Amino acid sequence: MNTTGSKTLYRPALLYAGGEWIRSGEVLVDEQGIIERIGSKLDSKPDSGLGPGEPGSSAGPNRSAAALRVVELPGKALLPGLVNAHSHAFQRLIRGRTESREGRATGSCDFWSWRPTMYYAAGRLDPRQVFDVARMAFLEMALSGITAVGEFHYLHKGSDGRAYDDPNLLARQVIAAAQSVGIRIVLLRCAYLRSGFELPPDPGQRRFIESGAEFLRNMEALLQVRSAQVHFGVAPHSLRAVPLPELREIAEWTQAHRLPLHMHVSEQLAENAACLREYGATPVTLLEREGLLHSAFTAVHAVHVSPREIAALARAAVTVCSCPTTERNLGDGFVPADAMLAAGVSIALGSDSQAQIDPLEDARQLEYHLRLLRQRRAILDLGRDEPAGQMTAPSLAARLFRCATVDGARSLGLSGGELWTGRPADFFTVDLEDCSIAGATAADLLPLLVFALNRSAVRDVVVQGRSVLRDGRHPAQAEIVERYGQLHAAVWSGAGRSSDRP
Ligand SMILES: [Zn+2]
Repeated sequence: MNTTGSKTLYRPALLYAGGEWIRSGEVLVDEQGIIERIGSKLDSKPDSGLGPGEPGSSAGPNRSAAALRVVELPGKALLPGLVNAHSHAFQRLIRGRTESREGRATGSCDFWSWRPTMYYAAGRLDPRQVFDVARMAFLEMALSGITAVGEFHYLHKGSDGRAYDDPNLLARQVIAAAQSVGIRIVLLRCAYLRSGFELPPDPGQRRFIESGAEFLRNMEALLQVRSAQVHFGVAPHSLRAVPLPELREIAEWTQAHRLPLHMHVSEQLAENAACLREYGATPVTLLEREGLLHSAFTAVHAVHVSPREIAALARAAVTVCSCPTTERNLGDGFVPADAMLAAGVSIALGSDSQAQIDPLEDARQLEYHLRLLRQRRAILDLGRDEPAGQMTAPSLAARLFRCATVDGARSLGLSGGELWTGRPADFFTVDLEDCSIAGATAADLLPLLVFALNRSAVRDVVVQGRSVLRDGRHPAQAEIVERYGQLHAAVWSGAGRSSDRP
């Protein structure tokens, strides 16, 4: 719903819709926050409800125009909201706490040695703190133009490993945090059933672990809080954390409920090796063999996959969710996005560990990682054989922007990602005079946004027709940051360096 109970007409200097820029375009949003009409200079007959209006105010004295609020956005470009398809909100807390080899044995500074610090933070949050850290992460997402997040949520139990009276208490805290900030959430409730193949229980995971039956019972109960801005999906953590028999059962339940299914797949070589030992196949090959790959399946990471496995992902219309800023931070490896896109695989993007929250930085890193590897440029500008020196960036930029919007929405089972009539009004604006993109024209604005936009350029964020950010500020920003500061101090005070922790 929008805040006024009336229709709203947005008038930016430039509007990105249908893959192109519309000069002086307009977006009419109805009382439910749905786009009623969009295009250049919409019909302004009196009975259409449209009138000329004054900047930021209700327009005109006539009956129909009185119900219309006009928002003038001079000097701003309006774009579909960015979609963050993979997030662990609480990991915002360990940003900056793992960037050292200190206290670690030589050669052991990797994903596996990063996990204990993450477990340390996960083990210390009470329900109120889960809310506070999630609000901080979601605030930062709104500030970067994100309107929807897929929250891969695996904090279920108390620090002692016992379930709360409401086993979904922490999931509800995370949902409440998204609602408090105002962004759309797809709560991907995570099934985490064991530590790993032939591994003893890990005390660091005691808040994550449920039985398969417990998981399905709690998942079913959680669906009751579904609303226009709260959606659900199912997230078996990984093949190491969910044995195959339970995975089959969870996948069947998910399909019966027509929900998206997300899973960490082949992030690490050690994970592939363990899967090979247990099942005689690497993860994608095993999932294909089991008939578990389909169009509502998102493989998060898919870093270490073979050409044959990429072809299998394409055949099954699986979405891959790459998280480039996390993958480079953890030293996971790079996603073979060129082979995937060439095969027809959709690639969504996620902020994952929150090492950085900026979907357009993720989009450009998807390309930049491959440039470093291949020692060439414009790797993902596929299918174009133009003469040397000819500008190829617009097509490449459109492809990467699609990863940050349309493909993310597809991954999460949302109808957003593009601005069309009948879609939710989820969008953001950028200041065309921000230093990072100043001088842009319609011809080069998209490549400038994708390859150079600084988050400071994001001015307005609207979700379901409701204002979340105005003039680059969130109304609760000071309070959210203050509470987060207190929480951060409480968790880390007196604890010494992160490398000292279990
Ligand atoms: Zn993850």
